Amino acid sequence: MEDVLILVRTAPVVCWSCGAETSIVSSIELSRNDTSAVCAVSDFTAYPQLIRPIEASLRSRIDIGALKSRYSGTLARSYVSNGCAHCDALFGQHFEIHARYDEQLASRFTAAGVEGWDAMLKDLLASEDGHLLTF
Ligand SMILES: [Zn+2]
Repeated sequence: MEDVLILVRTAPVVCWSCGAETSIVSSIELSRNDTSAVCAVSDFTAYPQLIRPIEASLRSRIDIGALKSRYSGTLARSYVSNGCAHCDALFGQHFEIHARYDEQLASRFTAAGVEGWDAMLKDLLASEDGHLLTF
């Protein structure tokens, strides 16, 4: 099985809660051969084990908050999300979409498809809007 290439893009934002400057993962691109899909941190709610290698690839970036499941009072559910590096406040999808105007490639790595990346890429390509978690 071919490896999957993962591109992680991040962007600076000002925290809505504490006002500090922080950075969030604005988009994640999975590609293999001629196919690719761009998704969001929230899509990893379906594949929580795959967010760990993403975090590991950003280990040197202390300005990026933890990528983990947080409870959203607005949505009354928990999902894998970006958070403020200072106060851990949850950043929802609308922050990520706006932040994409300023995003930069932060890390890139390849992973074996068998680790679940293959299944996630297939699910993304099969989903109607390219996302696994709909709000
Ligand atoms: Zn904050």
